[in-house]
Amino acid sequence: MRVVLEWAASIRMEGKMQASVYRGPGKIGLEPRGAPRPGPTDLVIQVRACGLCGTDMHILEGEFPAAPGIVLGHEFAGVVTEVGAAVTAFKPGDHVAVDPNIACGLCPACQRGDVHLCDDLQALGVTRDGGFAEMAVLPASQAYRVPEQLSLEACALAEPLSCCLHGLDQAGIRTGDRVLVIGAGPIGLLMVQLARGSGAAVVGVTDPFEAKRALARRLGADRAVDPAGGDVTDRLGDLAPRGFDVVLECVGRPATAAQALGLARRGGTVVWFGVNPPGATVPVEPYMIYRNELTIRAAFVNPHTFARAVTLLAQRRIQAEPLLSHRFPLGGVAEGIAMMKTGQAVKALVLPNGG
Ligand SMILES: [Zn+2]
Ligand SMILES: [Zn+2]
Repeated sequence: MRVVLEWAASIRMEGKMQASVYRGPGKIGLEPRGAPRPGPTDLVIQVRACGLCGTDMHILEGEFPAAPGIVLGHEFAGVVTEVGAAVTAFKPGDHVAVDPNIACGLCPACQRGDVHLCDDLQALGVTRDGGFAEMAVLPASQAYRVPEQLSLEACALAEPLSCCLHGLDQAGIRTGDRVLVIGAGPIGLLMVQLARGSGAAVVGVTDPFEAKRALARRLGADRAVDPAGGDVTDRLGDLAPRGFDVVLECVGRPATAAQALGLARRGGTVVWFGVNPPGATVPVEPYMIYRNELTIRAAFVNPHTFARAVTLLAQRRIQAEPLLSHRFPLGGVAEGIAMMKTGQAVKALVLPNGG
């Protein structure tokens, strides 16, 4: 589906802001909105950077529900401009990264600590207005202070990084493990760095784009191969002669999900991290899972991992800048998504207040 960009007259006046608003499948456009005001426990921030993500693409293509009229964008960071009357932990001028996923705190899942499995999970940029706007309002509990020396563009990666951390926790990598990352998009490239930081002795990567394979090598992969260039098992076999201890599937297609199962060692773990379209299925031979005692795990969003993501970025343990390949103004959301679809962009950012 073609994404139609509709321009609205650029109106800048007191109490107004520009926002990129979702108007239904295939439609997103700029429109003036009232500048958000904080409730007693809220913050208002000036959004400095907001990542474009596969989820935004799926919403725009009608594969993933979002309410028309919503401001999309769930990977964002900015500067606090106003705090609600009851907020004491933040002040105007603070730099913050935003965890968009808001759990109710009351349902059985929340009460047992599985906040990501909340019965009423809300998300800024999906069910509530998000970061493709000059300003955003959010509960102060969703904000994480970041050091001012750290670029707010890098901080826009805190959300995807926090999701990767949950995937990594599910994988249970041990020091000395041989790890394979399938797919070297922004998620795969974060996973390569996290696997290295977790003590993986060997990190292999597959991706069809040479530029991404080169980036994977630069960020710590021992080898990165083109999956179209012949049998992957042959070309990675010497890295893991008996198969990989952990395989992280970061593409989200049935073919790569199935491939991941065949690349794990006996007793190994596969994490299906990439998001398949709803309804997609993967042929699995139960005998093979049984005989090889494979563990298949999944990871949904970012329960209790956001603070660690911010710490990793602040301590420069994760390189963010090499992933940030494209920057767009607020009116460039549709263009950015089109670039992501071609696979050329690694991570595209929207800079709602200019660079
Ligand atoms: Zn995302
Ligand atoms: Zn809940």
